[in-house]
Amino acid sequence: MRKVGHWLIAGVIELKSGTRIGGSDDVLQIGGTDLTCIKDPVTDRPYIPGSSLKGKMRSELEKHLGKFGGNDNNEPCGCAQEDCPVCRVFGPHQKSDHRLGPTRIIVRDAPLLEGGDIELKTESTIKRSTGGAQHPRTLERVAAGSRFRLEIGVQELDLDAPMTYEDHEGRRVTGGEALVQIVYHCLDLIEASGLGSGTSKGYGAVEITVKEAKRLPGRRERPQPTAGSGA
Ligand SMILES: [Zn+2]
Repeated sequence: MRKVGHWLIAGVIELKSGTRIGGSDDVLQIGGTDLTCIKDPVTDRPYIPGSSLKGKMRSELEKHLGKFGGNDNNEPCGCAQEDCPVCRVFGPHQKSDHRLGPTRIIVRDAPLLEGGDIELKTESTIKRSTGGAQHPRTLERVAAGSRFRLEIGVQELDLDAPMTYEDHEGRRVTGGEALVQIVYHCLDLIEASGLGSGTSKGYGAVEITVKEAKRLPGRRERPQPTAGSGA
């Protein structure tokens, strides 16, 4: 197994609605603790953790392909089949004995480029029997219009040569280009579903624009050493 190339995919994630990043507010807490967004500890500005983005990419692709592991269909895919796009790009879940090689994708934390205002939103649940609001709590959302820098690295190995995938026009591409198309498909699926929590309430609508996708050369040009004068 040998690494034959490295791809860099760069672009912008723009929030189209207020977005809750990094919170786990799916379970309403009695007492209404305030729920804060993930922020860079140094700048105190919001960012999108690469791990969140990568996890969402994987789970959306699994949903789309109907690829889940485990008996309850709730686990990530661990099929380790050579033609499984999920296992090839993200690695088979909890399986060490496979021939797919290491995880191909590196998703960087997405720093804030523009915007980043935090808005406070008060939510409550409605008691069905009375129609009254209960358990109010205040949560933070990153305002619509905020933009973050997307950067994804993809490693291409010699054993990716037989992999194929369709691009958005249905053309079959192979090898490293297939890996890139799998990544693009994941990004399309996130645009369709949303990012962060509360997407069923309309939070987390995003537009993801890829500005650059290139195969980086193996070696870069660097200053070459010259023989010293010996002085
Ligand atoms: Zn799989």
